[in-house]
Amino acid sequence: MFSTDFIRLLEEQLGDPEEVSRLLNALENGSQPTSIRVNPHKCHPAPTGSDVNWCRWGRYLAERPSFTRDGHFHAGGYYVQEASSMFVGHLLEQSLGGEVPEGVRLLDMCAAPGGKSTLYSSIVGHRGVVVANEVIRNRALTLADNITRWGVGNTVVTSNDPSHYASSLEEWFDVVAVDAPCSGEGMFRKSEEARRDWSLDNVRLCAARQRRIVADAWQALRPGGVFIYSTCTFNRAENEEMMEWLCGEFDCEHVDIECPEEWNIAHGRVAEAECFHFYPHRTEGEGLFAAIVRKGGEVGTKRKAPKARKNPFGEVDRKVVGQVSGMLEGDWKFASIGETIYAYPTALWSDIRTLSEQMSVLFAGVKVGELFGKKFKPDHSLALSAHLRVDAFNSYELSAEELHCYLRREELPNVGGLTEGLNLLLWEGQPVGFTKRIGPRTNTLLPKEWRIFI
Ligand code: SAM
Repeated sequence: MFSTDFIRLLEEQLGDPEEVSRLLNALENGSQPTSIRVNPHKCHPAPTGSDVNWCRWGRYLAERPSFTRDGHFHAGGYYVQEASSMFVGHLLEQSLGGEVPEGVRLLDMCAAPGGKSTLYSSIVGHRGVVVANEVIRNRALTLADNITRWGVGNTVVTSNDPSHYASSLEEWFDVVAVDAPCSGEGMFRKSEEARRDWSLDNVRLCAARQRRIVADAWQALRPGGVFIYSTCTFNRAENEEMMEWLCGEFDCEHVDIECPEEWNIAHGRVAEAECFHFYPHRTEGEGLFAAIVRKGGEVGTKRKAPKARKNPFGEVDRKVVGQVSGMLEGDWKFASIGETIYAYPTALWSDIRTLSEQMSVLFAGVKVGELFGKKFKPDHSLALSAHLRVDAFNSYELSAEELHCYLRREELPNVGGLTEGLNLLLWEGQPVGFTKRIGPRTNTLLPKEWRIFI
């Protein structure tokens, strides 16, 4: 049963009672499609299933497998993501005009658990830096794990209030995305909680909070930069009215987006914003609203340098750099924080340093490992880096039984095929982690927090 207020809002919005009843039916009885997005920076056997029209890496699967038992899931070969959400990648690519500019800076303000951030990170690659921010600390830790698993190395995970971005990195970003916390109407068939918690009061509360987040996020965007707003709810207060308010309050320009009719996405213009609604009775996916505008103003004149703050990084000894640089493909800058060595794409180093000075950074680049005196212990993040040189390690291909032992952090049952010392563990050729063989025993390097019970 749906609340009468919710139904009334839908009727006002869609106009046609027949369409409202089809939408309600899809929310009540419709099947939830399962979809994944493949990681283009890693190898993964092409999954069967059909394409998601608006995302070249998206696939609908015919049935829902057990992801937790699948080695490719743990290797970061794909992300399980509901298909409508992938549309923000289409908005980003269209707004950039087909080519990602060198040095682009993208902020994903409300990022956990990381579905959209990992998509942005795939699109941007090492041409720019992606900042995945999540204000709620324990959600930010999950986000950091998902970014680690994705392994592109271009993403900085922070846990700051949006107001910190407004004040410390004013007009610093070329793209700012706000995937706002919302009343979740589009998730009603997935989440009983979203249904139960829905009320008109909650819609008003969400809209007020979204306005605060959007106002802060807007400050962090440079003139000429692109703003992408999304929610997983249908109502006007959290969507169209937010765009009306934004365009009324600030200098906004329209961005043209291709959206073929056969995709069945309801779209149109609200003030300068181009707006898109995904309705589950029309498209295969959950409910989503997305909108895009460009920030007006004189381009290139107001980009501000943030105030200098204490640099958290130390230099890494040359010998150590010599030792670890052969483990990664490409051009990396190595820096240390305490005993831990990190690698950052050289082209992104200056931006990553600025972010580390200004924000509360939980994870960035590749966490290579720790030095204990002269002994180097590689980190799990290194194994999951898409740039890892597999041939720099002794490697061992796991059986399904061994993979599950490893994921439970148990000793491997048979050490015969392992080399004494460090081994990179592979699942169908893809790295999933490290283990150390010490005589007849193995010592896993999978962090405790990554342990799963299967
Ligand atoms: N973008 C994510 C993804 O694709 O996986 C989903 C983000 S979810 C819709 C919204 C996020 O906003 C939540 O992780 C929530 O913790 C965060 N959030 C809640 N209150 C917030 C606030 N006041 N400011 C910023 N973010 C907030």
